[in-house]
Amino acid sequence: MKDVAKLINDGEKKIVVLSAMSGTTNTLIEIADYLYKKNPEGANETINSLEKKYRRHIDELYSTKEWKDKTLDFIKQEFDYLRSFTKGIFTMFEEKIIVGQGEILSTSMVTNYLQEQGLNVALIPALEFMRTDKNAEPDLQYISEKIKNQLEDNPDKEIYITQGFICRNAYGEVDNLQRGGSDYSASLIGAAVNASEIQIWTDIDGMHNNDPRYVDNTSPISNLHFEEAAELAYFGAKILHPTCIQPAKYAGIPVKLLNTMDPTAPGTVISNETEYRKIKAVAAKDNITAINITSSRMLLAYGFLRKVFEIFESYKTSIDMICTSEVGVSVSIDNTTNLPQILNELKKFGTVKVDKDMCIICVVGDLDWQNVGFESAATDAMKNIPVRMISYGGSEHNISFLISAADKKRALQSLSNTLFN
Ligand code: ASP
Ligand code: MG
Repeated sequence: MKDVAKLINDGEKKIVVLSAMSGTTNTLIEIADYLYKKNPEGANETINSLEKKYRRHIDELYSTKEWKDKTLDFIKQEFDYLRSFTKGIFTMFEEKIIVGQGEILSTSMVTNYLQEQGLNVALIPALEFMRTDKNAEPDLQYISEKIKNQLEDNPDKEIYITQGFICRNAYGEVDNLQRGGSDYSASLIGAAVNASEIQIWTDIDGMHNNDPRYVDNTSPISNLHFEEAAELAYFGAKILHPTCIQPAKYAGIPVKLLNTMDPTAPGTVISNETEYRKIKAVAAKDNITAINITSSRMLLAYGFLRKVFEIFESYKTSIDMICTSEVGVSVSIDNTTNLPQILNELKKFGTVKVDKDMCIICVVGDLDWQNVGFESAATDAMKNIPVRMISYGGSEHNISFLISAADKKRALQSLSNTLFN
C-alpha cells in the first residue's frame, strides 16, 4: 500500500480503482461457504483471523495515532458487520455482499493513508455508480451519469479512490463483475469519464510475446492493437480478461499494462493503432477437442454446414476453429460437456472422427493478407510439428494451428526462435 501510494502521488489527477488485498476475496468466499454449510463457528474463526491480519497491517501502515485509531474503528465496524451474517439467514444476496467487502476494506485503508500523507483525496463508492442491466451487462450510460455526479459532489479533489469488482445489478442489489473484475471496473470507469488513459497495474511487466512458463527468452510487447490484445487474452494470456478492455476499445482510450514491482518499465500499451505488418506474439489455448465430419453428401450440397452448426448451437457449445473441404469439415471446441450427444447427432450427417487433448497455437499481429511471407514464416516454424488444422483469414490479426497438446512446448519454442529471436 505504501508503494501504491507513491504511484498514485505523481501530481496527475486520477481515479484509482482498487481491488482487494491479496487473498482477501478468497477468504471471504470461504466465509460465505461456511455460512452456506450452516457452520457459523467456521465462519467466525475465519473472520477473526482475517481481522487479526488487517489489524497488523494497520499497525504498520499508519504513523499517526489519529489515523491508526480512525482506521481501526472502521475495521472493527466492518468485521462486526461480517460477523452479523453468522446469525441470520444466508442466501446468494448475503454472499454477494460478503465477497465485496475486500474492496471496501482496501479502499478505506488507502484513502485514510493518503489523507495521513496530506493528499487531497476523496473516496467515491462504486455502489453509487457501477451498475449492470437486465442482461447483466454494464449499463454504460447510467455509470457515466452517476460517476459524474460523484465527481461533482467532491470538487477540487486531485485523487478519487473507488472500489473495483463490486456493482449493483438491474434491481439495485449488490453484485460483482466476476472474479478479477477490478480491471473491468477500471476500463468501464475510464470510458465513462473519457479518461486520457487507463492503466492496469499488475505484477508483471506487460504482455509477453510468448508464454514464459513454457518458453525461454520471452519479452514484453510494447504496443498492441485492441484486437491483438483480445486475441491474446482469449488464447491464454492470463494478465488480461478479454472482455475487460472492450469499453476502452469502444471509447478509443489507450490501456497501459504496468508493473508495480518495476514501475518505470514501459509495459504494454494497447490502443487502436496498428504496427504495420508486425508479428507480435504467440499464445496457446489448452483442452481443445477436434471433431471432423466427412460426407460425400456435402459435395456440391448447400445447407450442410448449417445443419452441422445447428447441432453445436442446440447444445450451447461454441466453436473456436473451423476448416472446410469439399467433402468435410473440421471444428474445434473447448467445452466438452455435451460431446457425446453432439457426436450422436453428427453421425446422422456423415462419418465422425474425434481428436482429444489438442491445443490451439495462435500467432498474433498485423496479418493483412497482402503481407507476403507472413503465413510461410509461421508454417515454417511449425515444420517439425504434426498439424491437425490451420486457420487463417478469419481476421486480420491471427493465424491458428491445432496441434496435439504433447507438442505444445516444442511448437511455442520453435515459433519464438523463428519469429522473434
Ligand atoms: N478482488 C476481486 C477478486 O479477487 C476482484 C479483482 O481482484 O479484480 O476476484
Ligand atoms: Mg485480484
